[in-house]
Amino acid sequence: MSNSTAPVHESAALLYANTDFSQLNWLELQWAAWYLWIDNPIIATGLMSFLLHEIVYFGRCIPWIIIDAIPYFRKWKLQPGKIPTPGEQWECTKQVLFSHFTIELPAIWLFHPMAEFFGMSTWQVPFPSWKEIAPQVALFFVFEDMFHFFAHRALHWGPLYKHIHKIHHKYSAPFGLAAEYAHPAEVFILGTGTLAGPILYCALSGNLHIVTMYCWIVLRLFQAIDAHSGYDFPWSLQHILPFWSGAEHHDFHHMAFVNNFSTSFRWCDRLFGTDDKYRVYRERITAARKAGMTAEEFKAMEARLCAEAEKEGVEAEKVAESYRYNKTKVA
Ligand SMILES: [Zn+2]
Ligand SMILES: [Zn+2]
Repeated sequence: MSNSTAPVHESAALLYANTDFSQLNWLELQWAAWYLWIDNPIIATGLMSFLLHEIVYFGRCIPWIIIDAIPYFRKWKLQPGKIPTPGEQWECTKQVLFSHFTIELPAIWLFHPMAEFFGMSTWQVPFPSWKEIAPQVALFFVFEDMFHFFAHRALHWGPLYKHIHKIHHKYSAPFGLAAEYAHPAEVFILGTGTLAGPILYCALSGNLHIVTMYCWIVLRLFQAIDAHSGYDFPWSLQHILPFWSGAEHHDFHHMAFVNNFSTSFRWCDRLFGTDDKYRVYRERITAARKAGMTAEEFKAMEARLCAEAEKEGVEAEKVAESYRYNKTKVA
């Protein structure tokens, strides 16, 4: 679509009969062109959603793969020395791709009917303004974080852990690609937190464009991948927004198995007291940093604290896995 002439396509003429193309911006024109070209809204929405996920997910992982390969960045690695090997990264990529193609791809054709059912705009142009999109996305962040906190805690309960969540905990020192390395049931359970916010919002307000949902999903993917990156840079978002979780928060969850169950924000774990061990750990690291040690001494101290937290984590994982009905703990 490059000008204001009426579309020649039959079904496109139906969809866009009342659209003034001269009033649209470049992105909106591409959007309409996509729906016109595919000529089937179910396929157009499904395919766009799938491609968006693949491009953003793997696109966001590439810088982290490069960073892992450059020794200069190791000083900001949260678990020093635990650099994923290319073999590990490739193994993880294959697993993630397998689940994207076998689970997500078949399910994604339901996306458009579901959006239509809840009254969400899909093919419609123009898009809502940034002023409308931003508060909606902020709301989805808060909703998802709370949902994830409770669902993730439930996934640490013995039977659910053993049969579902254990897969995601394969990596005690995570890396970007590991963000979606999980059991299909976990993808479904935790994915609900990402999708339910927009769906509920749409069902209640009757006003949501799928482009807002895409903005949210892109940011949520960035959040999840960055949280698994294993690096805390001086410019990481949590140093600007102190309530933002970031890698520093979630890396501890993988290392120590306990604490830090939420995704984007720190307030749920603080409120429910599930960040006590994490805070002690951070205080020790900070104290070591301020103690005037040499770089070598600090490195040794950090490695020792990491090893201690990880050892405790291994024990805590054993307790979760050894859960038997009527018996919460087996020695
Ligand atoms: Zn977990
Ligand atoms: Zn994780």
